[in-house]
Order: sequence, then C-alpha cells, then structure tokens
Amino acid sequence: MRIGILALQGAFAEHTGMLRHLGAECFEIRKAADLNGWEPDGLVIPGGESTVMAKLLYGLKLLTPLRDKIADGLPVFGTCAGLILLAARVEGGAPCFACMDITVKRNAYGRQLGSFETAAQFAGIGEVPMVFIRGPYIVDAGDRVEVLARVDGRIVAARQENMLVTAFHPELAHNERIHRLFLEMAGEYRQKKETRGHRGGSP
Ligand code: GLN
Repeated sequence: MRIGILALQGAFAEHTGMLRHLGAECFEIRKAADLNGWEPDGLVIPGGESTVMAKLLYGLKLLTPLRDKIADGLPVFGTCAGLILLAARVEGGAPCFACMDITVKRNAYGRQLGSFETAAQFAGIGEVPMVFIRGPYIVDAGDRVEVLARVDGRIVAARQENMLVTAFHPELAHNERIHRLFLEMAGEYRQKKETRGHRGGSP
C-alpha cells in the first residue's frame, strides 16, 4: 500500500512511523512537485494547526490536486486539524477542502480540558485510547456520515465513504487499530483501481 502523508506541519512523522510499522510504503508530501506521477492508495492529513496548514495548502498549490483525488474516491484519514480541514462547515471559520458533510467546532473543549486522554468505544473496533490535543468535535453530521465514536455524547470519529476522521490523535496512542482500518480502506481502493485497470478502463 502506498500512502501519501501531508507533511507541511504538525504530527505527520508519527503517522508515517505507525503506517510503516504496519507495512505500508509512505511518502511525505511537502510541495506540488511531490505529487508528480504519484499513484497513492491513501492520504493522511495529520493534526497540527488547521489555519496554518490551510494557508500552506493554498500557497503551495496543493489544495486543488488533493481535493480532486479525494473527490475521485482516494481514501483519506484526517486527524484533529485534518478533520477540521476536511469539514464542509467550521463554526466561526472558513472551510478548506470542504468535502465531508460535517460541521466542526475547533478548540472545542475549553482551556482546562484542551488536552486530555480517555478511552471510548469505536464502532467495529471496541474500546480505543484517545489522545486529545486542543481538539475539535463534530457538532453536526449529514445523512451520509456514519458516526464511529462519541465522548461525553459528542462525535469524535466518523466516516463518510472514503473519508475517515478522528478528533483525537490515534498516531500518538499505542493502538494501531484505527490505522489498520484506514489501510483496509486503502486496500479496497487499490483493488478497485486494479480491477478497472485490468478491464482496460481509466484508473
Ligand atoms: N486546535 C487545532 C486547530 O484548530 C487542532 C489541534 C490538533 O490538531 N491537535 O487546528
């Protein structure tokens, strides 16, 4: 599996480490030229600072090519700031990729609870550790969005077709199960691409 990791800022190295450990081939994306000839099976948008990452995405002309790939079905895994960047609506702010039918609230837990660890049920996986660092939560999700986890009643993980998001940082917890789920999505996408290729269609 070939996974592109957006590496402009934030916690990308931890994703790369975890995915390599699970056997994926990772390449880090820092500029538009890094996309030349790329044939990814998945894309990770890490945690960090969403406003800074959005500016860099625009400035480096990465936004449109990445958005086109996501719209085309490329599996994407957005964690924390990555979730914010994928959301169609950001309370009090501007959306970036705007491809997932969710409304998010940034820095949603107040100062005292800005960073905390907990554990909660994740649909299809069971209880997972969750590390929150000035994280968002999902205020509202459209019909096509499957809610995967909640903490104190608030949505902290969800999936809409090829898009998987968590408000917490699975790459910082000693638990690989959510990354495995993402690699399963990437595997299905790769298989579909190969089937289309064998039939002679465009990939
Ligand atoms: N608070 C950050 C933002 O709004 C997200 C924090 C994180 O990714 N850990 O972008």
